[in-house]
Amino acid sequence: MIDLRSDTVTRPGAAMRDAMFNAELGDDVYGDDPTVNRLEEIAADMLAMESSLFVPSGTQSNLVALLAHCQRGDEYIVGHDAHTYKYEGGGAAALGGIQPQTVPFDDAAELPLDQVEAVIKDDDFHFARTRLLALENTQHGRVVSIDYIKQARKLCDKHSLVLHLDGARVFNAAVKMQVPVSEISRHFDSVSVCLSKGLGSPVGSVLCGSVEFIEQARRWRKVTGGGMRQAGLLAAAGLVSLQTLVERLADDHANAEQMQELLRGTPGVTVREAWTQTNMVWLDLQKPADDGFVAYARDNGVLLSCSGQLCRLVMHLDVSSDDVSHAAQVIRSWFEKNG
Ligand SMILES: *Cc1c(COP(=O)(O)O)cnc(C)c1O
Repeated sequence: MIDLRSDTVTRPGAAMRDAMFNAELGDDVYGDDPTVNRLEEIAADMLAMESSLFVPSGTQSNLVALLAHCQRGDEYIVGHDAHTYKYEGGGAAALGGIQPQTVPFDDAAELPLDQVEAVIKDDDFHFARTRLLALENTQHGRVVSIDYIKQARKLCDKHSLVLHLDGARVFNAAVKMQVPVSEISRHFDSVSVCLSKGLGSPVGSVLCGSVEFIEQARRWRKVTGGGMRQAGLLAAAGLVSLQTLVERLADDHANAEQMQELLRGTPGVTVREAWTQTNMVWLDLQKPADDGFVAYARDNGVLLSCSGQLCRLVMHLDVSSDDVSHAAQVIRSWFEKNG
């Protein structure tokens, strides 16, 4: 099966399994798992942050970040379609009493800063206290520019807001821009990075920030049930991700471009070409995808994630250039008959 549903579907390869098998372990809740400690050090170094915390998922990472930065009755500003807002079960509100204030993403995957500024609330007891701005990079595969991030930082400084990055795929952004990831992360107070997407680990995220912030986040990780014991088994995979699987993200980006090339001109399909910036290709279909297309693709060895008339094809470690050619041919063959 060629699985294009997400970059979360990768299976650990031989080198990663060896590292997991041979990992030196301790009890991480006591802080003495050497492999977790090493992962946290290396992640903090790469992102040029003081400290970091290994957590089971990106959802928990964003959640403990919000819980550490905000109090009950605070508010965070977030994209209307951001993962933190839309795809994490409303955790910040449900568990932290932290209210989301959404702003729509524009075509460049940015939150227009005039609109952000307009929703920052005055200090008045009628209002929630605006405390934090959350950005996402990449956002639906699109790269958010460093220039924009700098402007967002300025706005946050002006209004004493904390700036958080949901950087689930921030390494895709860094590789695409050909900059060290620290060129992106250094503008933020905290950054969450998924190890289990394009970086190929089976489980895990790292949350990075100041020593003080990470102490608070560690407390919330325990509260939310994320304190793990011999977690070095998993952190060993994360080390392999950070140390050996970052540069190869460029292959996924090249595969996405190849996919776009091969699908261009398919009847009944419009590729959102401006969005093909990293490892995702987005297709607008003339007809709903559940009219037989997704089932046809599955029957021909290609797994797709579609919703309504929109499909997202995601490239990753377990998708080769030949797989791209085959998948594109399967997709074209459906639309040449049914488009
Ligand atoms: C996947 C993802 C997350 C959350 O990750 P999980 O590990 O699935 O909880 C957060 N933000 C973005 C943008 C993501 O794509």
